[in-house]
Amino acid sequence: MEMEKLVSLCKRRGFLFQSSEIYGGLNGFWDYGPLGVELKRNVKEAWWRDMVTTHDELTAPIGAPSPFEMVGLDTAIIMHPQIWKCSGHYDLFSDMMVDCRETKHRYRYDQILGRWAEAKGRRVFVTTVAEDELAEITRRALKLFHLRSKNADQLQWQSDLTSLEKVDDLSQVLAPAAKEIGTLTEPREFNLMLETYPGPVKDEKNRAFLRPETAQGIFVNYKNVLDSTRVKIPFGIAQIGKSFRNEITPRNFTFRSREFEQMEVEFFCHPDTSRQWYEYWRDRRMKWYTDLGLSSARLQLRDHDPDELSHYSTGTADVEYAFPFLPEGEFGELEGIAHRGDFDLRSHMEGKLDPNSSPLTVELGDDGKPKYRGSGKDLTYRDEQTGRRFLPHAIEPSSGADRATLAFLCEAYREDSAPDEKGKMQTRTVMRLHPRLAPIKAAVFPLVKKDGMPEVARDIYRAMKGRFAAFYDEKGAVGRRYRRQDEAGTPFCVTVDGQTLTDQTVTVRDRDSLEQWRVKIDDVVEEIEKKVS
Ligand code: ATP
Repeated sequence: MEMEKLVSLCKRRGFLFQSSEIYGGLNGFWDYGPLGVELKRNVKEAWWRDMVTTHDELTAPIGAPSPFEMVGLDTAIIMHPQIWKCSGHYDLFSDMMVDCRETKHRYRYDQILGRWAEAKGRRVFVTTVAEDELAEITRRALKLFHLRSKNADQLQWQSDLTSLEKVDDLSQVLAPAAKEIGTLTEPREFNLMLETYPGPVKDEKNRAFLRPETAQGIFVNYKNVLDSTRVKIPFGIAQIGKSFRNEITPRNFTFRSREFEQMEVEFFCHPDTSRQWYEYWRDRRMKWYTDLGLSSARLQLRDHDPDELSHYSTGTADVEYAFPFLPEGEFGELEGIAHRGDFDLRSHMEGKLDPNSSPLTVELGDDGKPKYRGSGKDLTYRDEQTGRRFLPHAIEPSSGADRATLAFLCEAYREDSAPDEKGKMQTRTVMRLHPRLAPIKAAVFPLVKKDGMPEVARDIYRAMKGRFAAFYDEKGAVGRRYRRQDEAGTPFCVTVDGQTLTDQTVTVRDRDSLEQWRVKIDDVVEEIEKKVS
C-alpha cells in the first residue's frame, strides 16, 4: 500500500487533518476528524476495557503467576519539575542535533545520511534526510559538481550510504538542502521536553515541563493509590493521556508527533517474581494487537539486545509494526514493555545519586549547591504476611494511542473489487477495521426515498443508536452509499427495500465478504450488536 493513498483517504473521509491547516499547518501536530476521533476513542476504550474495566481480579489470567488487581488514574500534564530530574528526563532525555547555518534547518544527527563523492579533484560528503536517499544524494552530487546525468561516470563514489555520525570533519559536508559546503554546526544535545512557565512570572524558578510520558504521574501517585484503595501487590495502575516531546524532525504522518497520547501501565510486583510478570505482560500486550486485527506477518515482538537496555532494566521488548512508510523489512515501535526494576520508586524516594548530573535550578539551595533531590517520602511497601518492607519492581507496558491508531489504519486499507449496481466489477477502497474499532458499526439505507422505506429505515437506525454507533443515509445511489461506508470502515450495511414492506426483512451486507443475507427487522439490531461487540 502506498502511504499517500492512506493519507489522502484520511483527509477525504475525515479521519485525520493536519493541525492548523488553514494557517499552513504546524509541523508535528495533527487533528482527528469526525471518523478519526471515533476510531481513536475506540482504540483507547478497547485498551482501557481490556486493562482495567473488564479485568477479573479473582482469577489469574492465562500465563500470569497469580491473580492481580488493576486500577486507573488521570494525572496532570504539568507536574513538579523535580519529578523530571528524578526520572532522568531532565539530564538524559535528549537527542543529538546539528543546525545548518545556511538554511537555518535543524536535524537529528543520526537521521542525516550521506555518501562520500569525488569529482573534479574535490571530495565531499553529500547528505540528505529524504526518504529516497540514494537517488536524492546522486541528484545533489551531480548538481554540486556541475555534472549532467550523462557525465555521471565522472563522479566517483567513495563510500556506501552511511550516517553523518561517522564523519569526523563537518567542513567537508554538504548539508541537506544547503548549497554551500561546511554549514553544519558541531552536534549538541537537545532536550526533548517542552518548557512552560506556570504563574505570572516567566523566570527560571517558575520553569516547568509538559510531561514527555504519562508514567511518572503514576509513580508519584503510587503511595496515594495504596493508601486510598485496598490494592495489594501485585497490582497495576493504568493511565491514558497526552504527552509532549519536542521531536526535532517529526515525520511519517502521526508516527512521530510533538503532541501525542500514551496508554501506559505500571505494574508493581515483588522483586522475586518480577521476571515472570515481565514475560507475562510482554506476551499479553503482543496478543492485544493481533486480537484487534494486526496481521502477525507485519507485527513482531523484539527483545532488546543487552547493550540496548537502560542501566536499570533487566529486560525490554518492543512490539513493532512494519509500517508502509518504512523501507522494506524495517519495523517501527508501537509499544515498549520494560522491566524497570525499582529505579523510579527509588529515585522518587532517595533522589538521583549521580553526582555528575546537573541539578535543576529550582532546586538549588542558598549555598548554590543542589538540595536533597528525592521526595524524601518512604515509598516502600509492607508485606502484610511477612511484615517485611521492600521497594516493589515495576513492569511498564507503554504504548502510543496515535501509533496504534495509525497501525490499525495502515492494516485496514485495502483495494479490491466489488460489483456495482449493474453487476460490473469495480475497484473499491475498503477499510477493514476490526468491528470493535470501526467508528460506525452499521449504516442503514432506504433503497429509495419513497414507498415508506425511509420511515422503516429511520426506525431501525433509532433502535441501533441507543446501543452502538450507527449512521443513516438516504442520499444518492445505493452503490455509492456502500462505497462511502466501505471507506469509513463500517462493518455492516442494512438496506430497507421493496421486499421489506411485504415480509418485514432487510438486507444485511458484510463489508469484507460482500455477502448479503436477509434478517427480520425485529432481529437486525441484536444480530449486528452481537457481531460488533
Ligand atoms: P521512538 O524510539 O520511536 O522515539 P521511544 O522508544 O522514545 O520511541 P517510548 O518512550 O518508549 O518511545 O514511548 C512509549 C510509546 O509512546 C511508543 O512506543 C510510541 O507508541 C509512543 N510515542 C513515543 N514518542 C512518540 C511520538 N513522538 N509520537 C507519537 N507516539 C510516540
